[in-house]
Amino acid sequence: MHVDTTPIKPSNFLRQIIEHDLADGTYANRRWAGSPGDSAHQAGGQSDPAKIRTRFPPEPNGYLHVGHAKSICLNFGLARDYGGVCHLRFDDTNPEKEDLEYVNAIKDTVRWLGFDWNANGTSHLYQASDYFDFMYRAAEYLIEAGHAYVDEQSAEAMRDNRGDFGKPGVDSPFRARTPAENLARFREMRDGLHEDGSMVLRSKIDMASPNINMRDPAIYRIRRATHHNTGDKWCIYPMYTFAHPIEDALEQITHSICTLEFEDQRPFYDWLLDRLCEGGLLAQPHPHQYEFARLNLTYVITSKRKLAALVYDKRVSGWDDPRMPTIVGLRRRGYTPEAIQLFAERIGVTKSDSWIDYSTLEGCLRETLDVSAPRAMAVLDPVKLVLTNWDEVMGEGFVDDCSAPVHPHLPDLGRRQFTIGREVWIERSDFEETPPKGFFRLFPGNKTRLKYGHVIECTGCAKDAAGHITEVQAKLIPDTKSGTPGSDAVKVKGVITWVAVADGVPAEVRLYDRLFTEAQPDAGGKDFIESLNPDSLKTVTAYVEPSLASAKADDKFQFERHGYFVADRKDHAVGKPVFNRAVGLKDGWGK
Ligand code: ATP
Ligand code: MG
Repeated sequence: MHVDTTPIKPSNFLRQIIEHDLADGTYANRRWAGSPGDSAHQAGGQSDPAKIRTRFPPEPNGYLHVGHAKSICLNFGLARDYGGVCHLRFDDTNPEKEDLEYVNAIKDTVRWLGFDWNANGTSHLYQASDYFDFMYRAAEYLIEAGHAYVDEQSAEAMRDNRGDFGKPGVDSPFRARTPAENLARFREMRDGLHEDGSMVLRSKIDMASPNINMRDPAIYRIRRATHHNTGDKWCIYPMYTFAHPIEDALEQITHSICTLEFEDQRPFYDWLLDRLCEGGLLAQPHPHQYEFARLNLTYVITSKRKLAALVYDKRVSGWDDPRMPTIVGLRRRGYTPEAIQLFAERIGVTKSDSWIDYSTLEGCLRETLDVSAPRAMAVLDPVKLVLTNWDEVMGEGFVDDCSAPVHPHLPDLGRRQFTIGREVWIERSDFEETPPKGFFRLFPGNKTRLKYGHVIECTGCAKDAAGHITEVQAKLIPDTKSGTPGSDAVKVKGVITWVAVADGVPAEVRLYDRLFTEAQPDAGGKDFIESLNPDSLKTVTAYVEPSLASAKADDKFQFERHGYFVADRKDHAVGKPVFNRAVGLKDGWGK
């Protein structure tokens, strides 16, 4: 069979591994019975229609964040590009309280990012707890084959006897028990005859191994807990390091991709699957684990536990607060699946840890929105500008129609309409009584263009008793309206954006900034709460042009001169507009 392995995307070490495996036919003879299962089950199936199988295995204990997005794009992306399938597997072997809210949110997130676990007419949505029966059987097999034993040492003794980096471990006094004794003991564990924590089942490998993870790691523990899926059926639960390779193998995963922390676990992953293949329990060839560098993003924390703390302590408004690095937060901030996919592609996959600058993520959003987002004018810090000669020049009460392209490079999107009259809103910062050097906008005696409108000449301002500017004044220069003949006869250095008082729409605008002031808020065990940015949210009442009155939730715009904004998916309503700043026009951080 011909497999086209031409790389579509820039290559990386994982793509090279997969391309080699495809060229060598490493997995070509695998069978797939349509569902996960042991070797006998799979042997009854057909030749696997998936050239490779990858998986994304979240623990449903929180909302997914931008780090998970890297893993999702990687696993689903590789499967898509190489004729494979990617499974979505809920890793729920830990009988901790699992929340259906998280399960549903994870499914929504994967779909929203643009991926699908349905392929070849099958839904590849799995939960690891469905494999408990097999895991138990695998444990009994290991005991019978002399590869596992029940250890009754105290937790402290076990820790002491494990040794450390420079010191080999010491064999447990229970290590020499016969398989029959171990099996009887293990069944007692299962039957609830022993206390939580009184004994564990351990693999029997090598207490002197230079890799501490190979010094007889525990594989089953006693824990009386009700599991959301299996209820009270079990009072013993498999350890993650035992469960995970088995989950991969039952699902016929070919390339099991995980983050670098698990590199030292790989020998155990292989040891375990080799033993279970030897025993005929699992189909061969078994999956292989490959490690890549997790995403570390500056000014961001990517730990579900720490993000949960921000939510529960009400430091943010929820998991979907637009400042959160969760995917639901990014979405509400104005991020699109395209921007996140572009980001995942751009940062690539490497084998050594590094920090990605937050501006890389913002750059991807800017790039994707620039080509598509409709433009609009908005005044975020409004002060009134009065055109004092308007009635004289234009006629009392006259309103002049103006228009501008919806998008400068997409003429098919048409033009937006708005008006200009005697009073318009301008940005407070566009006026200076005494201009600093290089300031070309409004100051007494200077000419400036109102974008898409006329040239005006500033004459002064009015102030209240406290000296606060209440109004800026200017004269309209006739025959200078944009788009009319001779409009550029008067040369100006400054152009400002504005919104007419008559048709401007008041809007709540939420100006978000980074949640932390430190680039590595939780590095080295630092208390990330200390570097929370007190100014990460500023809410203003702005005026926006009338074309925005019909904006729908999630619609994205470029507010000219200001950046990209999204109509908030929760709070925005026609008649009560709410916009979130997604990202500025330029990278303004660190300046
Ligand atoms: P957390 O510590 O936030 O709970 P986790 O790794 O325990 O993260 P899981 O739900 O177990 O969360 O992760 C699911 C998958 O996402 C794993 O395969 C893991 O490798 C991957 N992943 C998690 N965080 C990152 C990250 N920062 N960069 C890349 N991949 C990640
Ligand atoms: Mg985890």
